[in-house]
Amino acid sequence: LSARYQSEMHLNAQSACGAPFSLMINAGLAIELESAQPSYTDGIGLYRTEFPFIMRNRFPTEAEQIELYKKVLASHPTKAVVMRTLDVGGDKALPYFSIIEENPFLGWRGIRLTLDHPEIFLVQIRAMLKANIGQGNLHILLPMISDLAEVDESLRLIKQATFELTDELAGTEVQLPKAKVGVMIEVPSIMYQLPELARKIDFCSVGTNDLTQYLLAVDRNNPRVAGLYDAMHPAVLRALHQMSLQAQGLQLPMSICGELAGEPAGVLILAAMGYDKFSMNSSNLAKIKWLLRRVNMSELHLLLPEILACQSPKQVRLHVQRFLDQKQ
Ligand code: PEP
Ligand code: MG
Repeated sequence: LSARYQSEMHLNAQSACGAPFSLMINAGLAIELESAQPSYTDGIGLYRTEFPFIMRNRFPTEAEQIELYKKVLASHPTKAVVMRTLDVGGDKALPYFSIIEENPFLGWRGIRLTLDHPEIFLVQIRAMLKANIGQGNLHILLPMISDLAEVDESLRLIKQATFELTDELAGTEVQLPKAKVGVMIEVPSIMYQLPELARKIDFCSVGTNDLTQYLLAVDRNNPRVAGLYDAMHPAVLRALHQMSLQAQGLQLPMSICGELAGEPAGVLILAAMGYDKFSMNSSNLAKIKWLLRRVNMSELHLLLPEILACQSPKQVRLHVQRFLDQKQ
């Protein structure tokens, strides 16, 4: 099977009727970059910077981060590389920065932590911007945004880092390329602030893993409630559908980087809703490209109302599976 999928890896990511898709990879470990096939993908849709932080026994220095981010940006030199700022807390702990909380997933996580420690944020942003010199493909992504004030404060710090570096480079020939800035949509509150968000940022990326967890109030790692955690819950799908329509109306570029985009049934539903930019683990990419190349948008448009009318994840899966069976 995987040979069958691989045999089409070099072909365009598009539906049978020619609608184009952008397929990108999620990465964070060196091995994921090494196994990437950059010429067959549209870049890195999510680079999780927390992994290199977790694997050390202290915060990496600015110089260490620059060296690392340069490699990441250079791995896809002519394509977009989306680097997410440090997303620790919740289930991701740094061995040298202890956080003890009763409700870690509702606590000091992602942007909340780094805005309380602007020195961590600024070093990371400076390193990203410096690594982008001579490259120009950097997109900065902010995790766990739940509020517009967090966006404003992050943009202020990004501007500050840009001014500092521009100052340092004054008198040299070196140009600092402008980086695009985006926000993760993974906390439900921000779904209701898209019009304001669209005026502040360049793009957003939906993290269906956390969005599912927070919409359904189900810990994504707790085996006791694992049966309740399902990104194909009708409520999650309706939220994703409404958001796709709203993002199109606002002309806000919106991609999906949660696991749902790397699942055959998930990507079909998302494509039916109008999403066309998907980022996934590289191991899923060939299969997803192969599948998308076999569907017509008109079939997906017929499938969508049936899916949105389903009352349980099980019903959704049965419906999509019937469709998938005709394609395999
Ligand atoms: C997500 O929440 O969907 C996501 C992509 O981020 P992470 O899995 O790293 O939390
Ligand atoms: Mg997340």
